[in-house]
Amino acid sequence: MSYVGPDFEPPQPRRPRRGPLTVALAALVPGALLGWLVYEGVGGSGGSDAAGAHSSPSSSSAVSSSSSSSSSSSSPGAGEPSSAGGGDDAKRADPTPGASAPAGSGSLRGKVVVIDPGHNPGNFRHTAEINRQVDVGNGRKECDTTGTSTNDGYTEAEFTLDVSHRLRTLLEQQGATVRLTHDNDSPSWGPCVDERARIGNTAPADAAISIHADGAAEGDRGFHVILPGSVHAGAADTRPILDSSSDLGQRVAGSFLRETGEPPSNYIGEGTGLVTRTDLGGLNLSTVPKVFIECGNMRDSKDSARLTTGAWRQKAAQGISEGIVSFLRES
Ligand code: ZN
Repeated sequence: MSYVGPDFEPPQPRRPRRGPLTVALAALVPGALLGWLVYEGVGGSGGSDAAGAHSSPSSSSAVSSSSSSSSSSSSPGAGEPSSAGGGDDAKRADPTPGASAPAGSGSLRGKVVVIDPGHNPGNFRHTAEINRQVDVGNGRKECDTTGTSTNDGYTEAEFTLDVSHRLRTLLEQQGATVRLTHDNDSPSWGPCVDERARIGNTAPADAAISIHADGAAEGDRGFHVILPGSVHAGAADTRPILDSSSDLGQRVAGSFLRETGEPPSNYIGEGTGLVTRTDLGGLNLSTVPKVFIECGNMRDSKDSARLTTGAWRQKAAQGISEGIVSFLRES
């Protein structure tokens, strides 16, 4: 919120295909920054997902030529059922060994992914419970927070659950075992951030991700992935998961960018889409590879137009899924 960045100019409608050089660059360089530069260089996406009717494909064609069948995934309209996830994914066939795009091969059998939908729609009614302080290793923090919302009242907690459901569907289609830290179930608040980490640890998860959207100022745009910083204090010791989490986060950032066209944050992370933090209990206490993703800024009109659109949330889930699948296959 205290970060001020340049206004984001929506990209112009993209040209239909990109060349092999772009494909090679996007595949080889994990950083979202270069990915974004490449993305902008070839014209970007249609931008306004709120309109929803663009025929422009998602930018996943950068991943590999064989993923072009996913181009139809941007179905028109915003009225998708919230848990519809991923019908298109089943049509994706990626026979190329080593390609970073996922295949519908069920190759993640035996892999466990824990998805943490940030906040809880019921937190607003349980302020005493969620304000309780919990130990995050290098300090104490609130058990949980309410999260943010769009100016029209679409809450971050609703958003994170919806994206998490879509992501679960996609990962299960790949054969992974998926667990959510909560599903808006009883008790209808939390769990606390330390418990959210423990659920991933005890699963034990091969990869864990916490889904969020930010609440910054109008004009602040874009996504960022939060990586654990080095914390060795109290019950926290992130040192064993730093490298693996960084790998996971870079893959998620790259694939999220490709699938959604959402730019890396213009207000944090210096355009890389990556931020390292040591104050988040959900990361500090994790013993498994874990990242957070802030999918966009709910308080920005352009970002919120995307975040409130079911078709865009499906792209978001697809991007996150591709990053996790890539990590689990190659790590
Ligand atoms: Zn959040």
